[in-house]
Amino acid sequence: MSDCIFCKIVNKEIPSAVVYEDNEILAFKDIYPVAPVHILIIPKKHLASTNELEEEDALLTGKMIMVARDIARKEGIEESGYRILTNCGPDSRQEVMHLHFHLIGGKKLGGNIG
Ligand code: 5GP
Ligand code: ZN
Repeated sequence: MSDCIFCKIVNKEIPSAVVYEDNEILAFKDIYPVAPVHILIIPKKHLASTNELEEEDALLTGKMIMVARDIARKEGIEESGYRILTNCGPDSRQEVMHLHFHLIGGKKLGGNIG
């Protein structure tokens, strides 16, 4: 997807603060963090949202959650706690149409996620 900002980050056409990378997953710091730890975990292949996931992506999405957990551990927030969330579509206010999991923590988060 040539006009997708996260594909450009995957391709290093746009710089980002990478915290984890393997052959199918990239994790980098959110440019507008809402908490001391705010990292985005994305598949390198373009999928717009959870709506586009296929059966074959089950392992990939499971790995994305475990990458988020491993980053939480490295950031020292495994015990204090964190949120992993993904927005899908207009009602969720998804802004970037490339699947991403937010890892958010490092402070007591707000109690209302809806
Ligand atoms: P969404 O609302 O789609 O779930 O979240 C998109 C997230 O991507 C937002 O938290 C926003 O701050 C982040 N973001 C948007 N553009 C960039 C960018 O160019 N670089 C980085 N690192 N984060 C971005
Ligand atoms: Zn993309």
